[in-house]
Amino acid sequence: MGAGVALDIARGIAVLGATGSIGRQTLDAVRQCLPHGRVRVLTGYRKTAEMAALVAEFSPEKVWMPEPPADNWGCEVVTGEEGLLSCARHEGVDVVVNALVGRAGLAPTLAAIQAGKHVALANKESLVTAGALIMAEARARGVNVTPIDSEHSAIWQCLQGNEGNAVEKIILTASGGPFRTWERSRIAREATAEEALRHPNWHMGPKITIDSATLMNKGLEYMEALWLFGVRPEQVEILVHPQSIIHSMVQFADGSVMAQMGLPDMRLPILYALTGPKRVETPFPRLDLLKHNTLTFEAPEEEKFPCLALAKRAAMLGGTAPAVMNAVNEWAVGQFLRGKITFYDISAIISQALDSYTVQPLTKAGDVWAAEAWANNFVGRVSI
Ligand code: NAD
Ligand code: MG
Repeated sequence: MGAGVALDIARGIAVLGATGSIGRQTLDAVRQCLPHGRVRVLTGYRKTAEMAALVAEFSPEKVWMPEPPADNWGCEVVTGEEGLLSCARHEGVDVVVNALVGRAGLAPTLAAIQAGKHVALANKESLVTAGALIMAEARARGVNVTPIDSEHSAIWQCLQGNEGNAVEKIILTASGGPFRTWERSRIAREATAEEALRHPNWHMGPKITIDSATLMNKGLEYMEALWLFGVRPEQVEILVHPQSIIHSMVQFADGSVMAQMGLPDMRLPILYALTGPKRVETPFPRLDLLKHNTLTFEAPEEEKFPCLALAKRAAMLGGTAPAVMNAVNEWAVGQFLRGKITFYDISAIISQALDSYTVQPLTKAGDVWAAEAWANNFVGRVSI
């Protein structure tokens, strides 16, 4: 993986998904720690009043909203699919923070890279569905794709200064989610969206919170790690670490293990994605290991959390299989959040989709759109 976006060039910033969990924390990190950062582009979604306040504070040149706002925001406002892509390509932007959720994130990621922008990537679904295309395009254009996901940021940090040293394995840590200690039968009976939304360590958007409860999030991160760090599947170990203090680890050829630690605060990996490998001063709370003096580790239970095995299966199938898995998962998570399906319906539906799908090679973005169209058709036929 290449170097990060050095602070001196991370001046023109676009934040896609500004009103979401990562978007808000990105703007807070810029506000508090990057005095030279200039937010030139913001994209919102539903929270119009919150977006109006961000526009007033950061005075971007361009804003995307699904509908034009009623009042004048004093900047260019664009809408529609092409408008969103134009935000990713906006002149004067050096780094695009992609904090969109789900499959909506891929086209802007590709547009940003093709326009020569560095991408600080929270939208892991981009890499899951089209990792091969993203990494090839980024290499061809000489731009960096830096991870915001805390685990991948940790791995990237552990790799600093180790160029040329062989990596034996990557140890991806997982909190285990809110149902870690529940029996399978209790999960089947009682795991509602409301319970799942009570994540023990992180406050995140609803989709990733459910993905964390099913461990699909770790499955997505497993695929993300394969693309970002170019390791083989058998080199990635997943370890449940309920305290979320060690954000991930790298084991080198000599058996030595490097770990990156910190309080669960996404502003740190966000900043590192913008400035790494340089570090900037922050006023954020410090880790006190006397307060966090117990760090424990467990093996993940794939029988209780089938989504993890499904993600590995999709990764193994390759081609367009991860795009189908991702799209069906996104739909199923939406249904679960609305109380329409149960916790184990999510994995059952994804499994059925993978069983009935004929995997296609992935050579262009259109192959992902075709796989997603197949998934739309498939979920349209699921009887719930
Ligand atoms: P969120 O739901 O809080 O925010 C997502 C943002 O995307 C919102 O601002 C919404 O306005 C926008 N959005 C949603 N659908 C859209 C669409 N169709 N078109 C345009 N904009 C749309 O989600 P989040 O928790 O901030 O997660 C964002 C991404 O970051 C996800 O891929 C997630 O997996 C990843 N991530 C999040 C965290 C976290 O702590 N929240 C940690 C690691 C990775
Ligand atoms: Mg993560």
